[in-house]
Amino acid sequence: MSGHGTPNRYRQQATHTIRDEPYVRESVLSGTDRANDHRNHAYAEIDADRWRDWGRDAKTHTLTNLDRYLEEAERNLEANGVRVHWAETAADALTVLRGIVREHDVRSVVKAKSMLTEELGVNEHLERLNVRVRETDLGEYIVQIMGEPPSHIVAPVMHLSLDDCRQIFQQVLGTPRHGTPEELVAAARKALRQEFLAADLGISGGNFLVAETGTVALIENEGNIRLSTSLPRVHVAFVGIEKLIPRFEDLAGFIQLTARAATGQPIGNYVSFIQGPKKDDEVDGPEEVHVVLVDNGRTTLLADEAAWEALRCVRCGACLNICPVYRQTGGHAYGWTYSGPIGAIIAPGILGLEEALPLPFASSLCGACADVCPVRIPIPELLLHWRERAVEEGLTPLTERVGLEAYTRAATHPLLFRAGGTLLRRTPWQLGGTALPILKGWTQERTTPEPSPKSFQALWKEGIE
Ligand code: SF4
Repeated sequence: MSGHGTPNRYRQQATHTIRDEPYVRESVLSGTDRANDHRNHAYAEIDADRWRDWGRDAKTHTLTNLDRYLEEAERNLEANGVRVHWAETAADALTVLRGIVREHDVRSVVKAKSMLTEELGVNEHLERLNVRVRETDLGEYIVQIMGEPPSHIVAPVMHLSLDDCRQIFQQVLGTPRHGTPEELVAAARKALRQEFLAADLGISGGNFLVAETGTVALIENEGNIRLSTSLPRVHVAFVGIEKLIPRFEDLAGFIQLTARAATGQPIGNYVSFIQGPKKDDEVDGPEEVHVVLVDNGRTTLLADEAAWEALRCVRCGACLNICPVYRQTGGHAYGWTYSGPIGAIIAPGILGLEEALPLPFASSLCGACADVCPVRIPIPELLLHWRERAVEEGLTPLTERVGLEAYTRAATHPLLFRAGGTLLRRTPWQLGGTALPILKGWTQERTTPEPSPKSFQALWKEGIE
């Protein structure tokens, strides 16, 4: 799977992965199994229910007062010497970036892992400006070399095996064909050091933005974010407006909620607090720091009374790891930056329902995602909300609408219901859908249970008599 699909082609992309790329499924299953184990152990160590309630309430409070906290954050960022930009759309965010690139004559960029910059198309934009851009997170580095987008919001190469990585490293960095993970990492580290030293600009996202102190908080495990944000002379952080949190002390809860759900760690190996450019008495740090506060559809989502809760997301990836649909297809099938359950509930808000249509339907509604979400987003309810909207707006297939309308009429009319039951009991169900081609999509992969030879009413009557 190239990974360059669109949400609208989800069905074809998912079918292709499952049918033609069985190795993707193998890698995703083993990666997500490991991630689920780690998450479960990490959450067993704390009073998880209490912390998840706290996370839900703290995020809800912030989103309910977002205007106030955004203004407070802007004031405090500026007081720290940070240049603040507002971007209503992806195009606005890229225009800000272009201005910074031109102002500083930027030729090369190192980038820390950031899903928001994927959403905005930052790399493609920089390439169009003839700026060299290098991803520095190991997984992102690999997918960039392969010309693919990441397939998971936390583990970009969830779809690859160790052997896939060995082959890529052999071709690009000349490592041994059967190199150990340590040898591969050492080779990447050596290559990336040169990139860090040569870069004019470092780009990051932001896990959290603290309103009361104007601090951008970044959690990571590899140290590449710290280098990307402190070595180049200019640092630009793209932060979604939903990443606001009110107080510095809230970080203690959010960092552990996120790290435990994402990787099973109580805290990331490195946590950086960006508090403005280098001061006169400091040796390290950029001379200039910019924070771009990005909306790109988030306020529209916030205004949707039924869908806004998706904005509580801290992008931990736990819902992807547990999702029986994601685990079969991996992330590329979703055809968008955010895959899995969280992708399915924010895509309609950000891309528009028509563009994202198949994604809310890519779920069995088992509810496992809601059970692991550290901020208790009711994901199945939001999936149903988008499905209802799709029906109301006439976006679902005509056959489905007609079929469900017919069923509704039959199910609410006793005579029709009885006649329908008699007809179904006489239908040759076990023909794998060949007898009912219209139901092929449902029947060809499932063993349809035989209907009872007698209706419930008939059995009930017999029981009474
Ligand atoms: S929806 Fe919840 S579980 Fe999924 S990525 Fe967001 S915070 Fe994590």
